[in-house]
Amino acid sequence: MGADWRALVRNVPDFPVPGIQFKDIAPVLADAGALAAVTGELTDAARAMSPDVVVAIEARGFILGSPLALALGVGFVPVRKPGKLPFTTRSVAYALEYGEAVLHMHTDALTPGARAVIVDDVLATGGTLAATAQLVREAGAIPVGALVALELGALGGRERLPDLPLTSLQGV
Ligand code: IMP
Repeated sequence: MGADWRALVRNVPDFPVPGIQFKDIAPVLADAGALAAVTGELTDAARAMSPDVVVAIEARGFILGSPLALALGVGFVPVRKPGKLPFTTRSVAYALEYGEAVLHMHTDALTPGARAVIVDDVLATGGTLAATAQLVREAGAIPVGALVALELGALGGRERLPDLPLTSLQGV
């Protein structure tokens, strides 16, 4: 049994806007045992999906998704905010828990038919994962599942993802 990463998740009130309680995984990332434990649990869950590729969402999804791709021996595809990816991209706009957002993926990032597992740190309203699954589908690949460390269950994000098997390590 690894370090108790769940106990290290920090609640930050009124971030990024008043009324939002932000779940901060920085203390989890900063602890060697907790980092190994959370990425190990995500790797186990991803392995069961037999993915060909990990698709991860800027920025904390990169931190969790990269070790997962290395452990599974598959490639890593970044999904990024506007203006970050240098090559041609496809994009999806969507509503966030607080504000609006657009996500981009390189047009050549995924092989058609590839089994993609999508990784992020937190599921809130589900808009980010839904948009990413749409990017994966528009590339001709298959979103076989999504993985998050934390699921804010009260926001009902899971219901917005009826076609995407979702594994969360911890409901909060
Ligand atoms: P959603 O699109 O509403 O599900 O929001 C999920 C996205 O917002 C993810 O990329 C998260 O990184 C980020 N997010 C939303 N709420 C939190 C939080 O409390 N802690 C950390 N990230 C959050």
